[in-house]
Amino acid sequence: SIPLSFFGGVGGASKAGILIKGSNYLEALNDVKYVLFDKTGTLTKGVFDVTRIHTDNGFSEDELLYYAAMAEAHSNHPISVSIRSAFGKEIQADQVAEYNEISGHGIGATVDGKEVFAGNEKLMNHEKIEYEKHGSEGTVVHVAVNRTYAGYLVISDEVKEDAASAIAQLKELGIKKTVMLTGDSKAVGDRVGHQLGLDEVHAELLPHEKVEQVEKWDGHKSKNEKLIFVGDGINDTPVLARADIGIAMGGLGSDAAIEAADVVIMTDEPSKIPEAIKIAKRTRKIVW
Ligand code: ADP
Ligand code: MG
Repeated sequence: SIPLSFFGGVGGASKAGILIKGSNYLEALNDVKYVLFDKTGTLTKGVFDVTRIHTDNGFSEDELLYYAAMAEAHSNHPISVSIRSAFGKEIQADQVAEYNEISGHGIGATVDGKEVFAGNEKLMNHEKIEYEKHGSEGTVVHVAVNRTYAGYLVISDEVKEDAASAIAQLKELGIKKTVMLTGDSKAVGDRVGHQLGLDEVHAELLPHEKVEQVEKWDGHKSKNEKLIFVGDGINDTPVLARADIGIAMGGLGSDAAIEAADVVIMTDEPSKIPEAIKIAKRTRKIVW
């Protein structure tokens, strides 16, 4: 019977760790031609390690790490978590005053009465602090104390084991474009994009620019074609809502992302996206 096999599709997907919030999304998965991904936590593990510290203007590595960890004391961003874990010591919340997280940029905070900025080139440019340029080795967090550049930390993030295979499978399924949208630097974005075989990479995007990217790609669709966005962060919520099918990572994902999504991948594996499309195609065959 038609409705039963349809429920079978959603049920079958849920057994595979793919929660589909309505049979209309399973149906829509058949017609996906564009798949857009966030990077951190979606295609990469998002479990960062501080791999290198470079100091400047007489700061020691310990001092740099101290100011960075204190500035990052109140954030749940994976970058903040990794810097605090590299610092390794307890942080008293009252040592950090006037804390301000600037989305897509980093942090501004008062630490021991000093003005500290920790974040990317955009943040340094905005604060008119001169910094050292850096390549694609990893995500870079620049640190400035009382407007003096103290140096940078390099943070590494690995691609998920199944990410390259997920992209390859999507191409076999006839997806026209696989695209990565990231707030991270162009150097890191391009390296990951190349490693995974993505068609396009758009980097250094602010959250609202990710929405604009989805709107742009939406304009490329012809009738009946559908677009997926896959993300995990709080920042990704407006993009998840804007896509035809918003997909969130259930394990690493923020509650807000899971709430805003139409499909949730419980195992955090990008290869579940081609699998979901395959389940949708099998289900349509049975129904028709
Ligand atoms: P993504 O698009 O990779 O999920 P975000 O939009 O969360 O990344 O952040 C984009 C960039 O902004 C990061 O790569 C980093 O350079 C900077 N950034 C964001 N939050 C922080 C933070 N808490 N500390 C330092 N840098 C940050
Ligand atoms: Mg993310």
